[in-house]
Amino acid sequence: MPDIILKDITMIYPFQKVSGLFDRKQKKLILEHQKQMPYTSNEGVIAVQHFDTTIKDKAFTVILGPSGSGKSTLLRIIAGLERPTLGEVWFDDTDYTDIRAEERDVAMVFQNYSLYPNQTVYQNIAFPLEVKHTPREEIDVEVKKISELLKLTNKLDRLPQDLSGGEKQRVAIARALIRRPSIVLFDEPFSNLDVLMRSHLRSEIKKIHDVYGTTFVYVTHDQYDALSLADRIIIINNGIKQMDDSISEVYNKPLNRFCFEFISSASANIFEDIEVSKDGSFSLCGADYKLDQKQFKKLGKDRKMTVGIRGTNIEIGHSGIEAIVEYAEMIENDLYVHLVCQDQKLTVIEKTNNSDIIKYSHNQKVRIVFDETHFHFFDQEGNRL
Ligand code: ADP
Ligand code: MG
Repeated sequence: MPDIILKDITMIYPFQKVSGLFDRKQKKLILEHQKQMPYTSNEGVIAVQHFDTTIKDKAFTVILGPSGSGKSTLLRIIAGLERPTLGEVWFDDTDYTDIRAEERDVAMVFQNYSLYPNQTVYQNIAFPLEVKHTPREEIDVEVKKISELLKLTNKLDRLPQDLSGGEKQRVAIARALIRRPSIVLFDEPFSNLDVLMRSHLRSEIKKIHDVYGTTFVYVTHDQYDALSLADRIIIINNGIKQMDDSISEVYNKPLNRFCFEFISSASANIFEDIEVSKDGSFSLCGADYKLDQKQFKKLGKDRKMTVGIRGTNIEIGHSGIEAIVEYAEMIENDLYVHLVCQDQKLTVIEKTNNSDIIKYSHNQKVRIVFDETHFHFFDQEGNRL
C-alpha cells in the first residue's frame, strides 16, 4: 500500500461560459480576491494552489479547512475524478497523474451517502464485488463480515429509504471498504448527522481504521472530527496549505493565527495590536508579561503582535484581573463564560456540570488569571513568533 504524494498541485476551474450581470459581478469579485493570492490566474476559480504533501501509508490523515477551501477538490484529485491543472499525483514511486479513477485502488465515501435507492442494503454493499465478477459465495462471506463490523447485519434486506442517516452512512462505508481498497477517502461523511450520531460514528470509524489498517484521508470543516480522529492534520485555507503535522503540534504550536483560530473554534480569544516594549514586556487587560528572547527577535520593527489564548487556559478564581460577566452558556458538557475585561471580550471555558451555570450572572464581577504558558504569539502577518 502506497504513500500518496501530491507535488505542487494547483487546480483552476475554468469560468463557465455564461453571460449576464450576476455572473460578471461574481467573476469580478473572485478575480479581485485572487489578486492577493500567491498563484494568480484570470482563467478561472483557483481551488488549490502550490499544494505539496505526503500522506503516509496506513495513517489516518484529516484535511481540515473552512467551506470552499479546496478540500473536496484535493480528494477528487487523489481519487482521479479530477486532473490537476498543474502538478503531479504519485502513489509511492509511480506517477498516477494521468491514470483514470477506475484504475486507482481508491474508494470514496460522500456526505450525501449516494446509495442506489432501488437496491437493498445487501445489494448496495455487494455492488463493488459484483462489478468485479466475484463468485457469489465469496460475496456472501465478505458482505456478512463487513456488515457485522458496521452493525448492519439485521438491515441487509432493507431499502435505503428505510434507514436512518447514520445507517445509510454505515452502508456507504461498508460499500467503500468491501473490496479492500488501499486508500479510502471520506468527504465530510458525517455532516448530515446529528451530534450524537456523529460522535458514535466517529469512534467507530477510528476502530474500523485500526481493524483495516489502510490509508484513510478524511476531509472535514469540524475541528472536533480532526482532533478526535487524526494521526496527522493538514489545515487548508484558500486552497493553500497552512500546516501539516501531528495533532499535538497543530494544537499546541499552531503555525499561524488562522490555524490557531480554526483549531480552537469557539474557545479562541484574540488580543489584537499588542505593543511590546524594548525589554520584551507587554500587558494584557492591565496585567504584565514578558516575551522570551527568541520570540522577541522575530517581532517586526513596530514591535506589535497578536496574542491568542484558549478559553480553557483562563481560570476564574479568587485572585487576578477583574472582569465583568456578560453571560454564561452550556455547550455540550462545558460552561462557556463570556466576559469583558478592559474592553476586551473574553470567553472562559470551565469543565463543569449543568448546575454551575447559576454561579454566574450578568454584570457579576469575577477575577481571572491567564495561564501564560499557553499564550500563542503571532506577528502582524499572522505567523507564529
Ligand atoms: P471545500 O470542499 O473545501 O468546500 P471545494 O474543493 O469544493 O472546497 O471548492 C474550492 C473552490 O473551488 C471553491 O471556491 C469552489 O466554489 C470552487 N469550485 C469547486 N468545484 C468547482 C467547479 N466544478 N467549477 C468551478 N468552481 C468550483
Ligand atoms: Mg467539500
